[in-house]
Amino acid sequence: MSTNIPRRGLMLVLSSPSGAGKTTLSRGLLASDSNIMLSVSATTRKKRPNESEGRDYFFVSRDGFDAAIEAGEFLEYATVFDHLYGTPKKPVMDALAAGQDVLFDIDWQGTQQLKERAREDLVSVFVLPPTHDELERRLRIRAQDSDDVVRKRMSKAADEISHWPEYDYVIVNDDLAIAQEKIKAILDAERLRLTRQVGLSDFVRRLT
Ligand code: ADP
Ligand code: 5GP
Repeated sequence: MSTNIPRRGLMLVLSSPSGAGKTTLSRGLLASDSNIMLSVSATTRKKRPNESEGRDYFFVSRDGFDAAIEAGEFLEYATVFDHLYGTPKKPVMDALAAGQDVLFDIDWQGTQQLKERAREDLVSVFVLPPTHDELERRLRIRAQDSDDVVRKRMSKAADEISHWPEYDYVIVNDDLAIAQEKIKAILDAERLRLTRQVGLSDFVRRLT
């Protein structure tokens, strides 16, 4: 039996150059851990064939996105590859207060905004590919984007990779299972951080 001390949820951010594997790693983590939920972003980009509304993104028009900005509904938002992407604020705030962790697949711009607004709750992880060629191979095998989009994403990769020093942790996603274990280890350790365990004072008082 394990003793549960009430704690505040944390925000786990995974960022990487497109194709390094953060979507794959996110899905693995969500499937193996029931106390973390995915923050589903809104975007103005087109839906890919294997994506579904509300599971991968909320696909919205430019006008709809602008209205949500105006209404203060985003925790952060940014332009990535010519499209707008943003994190709806309310589901995240409700989850953290209820002791549930939230996983974010967002870029370095969004991570910087979360750092400014919620440093105490934030745990950020940057995912690197093992090599440049492997990154290109992964972008191609995903086969959901045209050659033009793959070229554009490869040319942006160096730019995105340059932001690794701004993160709390860095993982090289070479062997998928090993990378998955490393993310789980970070999450397990960060859940034990004293500042998140809001029920500690009461717990210790009962001990002494
Ligand atoms: P991202 O979300 O970072 O853009 P994805 O998770 O979509 O990247 O991964 C891109 C492609 O690489 C997918 O086809 C995925 O199956 C594959 N992939 C991810 N991680 C690994 C890995 N460790 N080894 C081999 N292929 C991988
Ligand atoms: P994709 O189009 O491949 O799904 O995502 C492109 C990039 O946008 C990825 O780097 C992803 O992390 C980032 N992204 C997705 N949602 C958000 C968001 O809500 N905010 C920010 N800042 N970036 C996001």
